[in-house]
Amino acid sequence: MVKAEQVHKSFGHVEVLKGIDLEVKQGEVFCLIGPSGSGKSTFLRCINHLEKVNAGRLYVDGHLVGYRQQGDKLYELRDREVSLQRRDIGMVFQRFNLFPHMTALENVMEAPVQVKKQSRSEARKRAQELLDRVGLADKSSSYPSQLSGGQQQRVAIARALAMEPKLMLFDEPTSALDPELVGEVLDVMRDLAESGMTMIVVTHEMGFAREVGDSLVFMDDGVVVESGDPREVLTNPQQERTQAFLSKVL
Ligand code: ADP
Ligand code: MG
Repeated sequence: MVKAEQVHKSFGHVEVLKGIDLEVKQGEVFCLIGPSGSGKSTFLRCINHLEKVNAGRLYVDGHLVGYRQQGDKLYELRDREVSLQRRDIGMVFQRFNLFPHMTALENVMEAPVQVKKQSRSEARKRAQELLDRVGLADKSSSYPSQLSGGQQQRVAIARALAMEPKLMLFDEPTSALDPELVGEVLDVMRDLAESGMTMIVVTHEMGFAREVGDSLVFMDDGVVVESGDPREVLTNPQQERTQAFLSKVL
């Protein structure tokens, strides 16, 4: 579903991704861990067209991200083609980013109506089902300010799912939450994983990575330091840098 080959990304003179190679299989929960500043968010943002890679290749669902290949030439995609690629990718951020002036239901309906041109009645029905799925059937007419952080994040997940993505990206989805609200969001993510969704999850929740993750990558300073089965890497890290990081967070 995702393949990175020597992905490089710099901001000015600062190289943030220094040749990332990795592969995420369909239906897999792929956890990405690493210290702050190691490039995890930047990598997710490259997958979702929020940043452009400078060198190397990034594929999503077999398609080169941001480019069309003809023979041995690469052409940058037009905005319209980029939007088509992005449609298949859902993203959930640390901050919930809900539209404050819209109810939970309206937040979930917005993209299907505006982008997919679904009818309002169809989108409303589907949005209600999605809110039900994340345990918020009774909050459809609440505004974000009336919801807890955990509830807002679950609306954000429902909103991403409304576009029927093939791939879901989570960038520290529970890091901004009060500790007692983390579990309800992880439960929704666990259900989603069980439904077969391909997920890349940047997280500091090692319990989630161990129990739900199929693969885990430890990134540091723009490179993949170590990867493998989450249970293996977390209990028996081979690299010194991984050991040092885990001794701080576990
Ligand atoms: P992580 O998510 O692992 O904490 P990030 O991908 O957010 O790391 O950041 C990696 C490095 O890239 C940091 O040093 C950060 O300051 C830098 N960086 C991220 N985005 C930008 C940007 N838009 N412009 C300049 N530097 C950036
Ligand atoms: Mg980050």
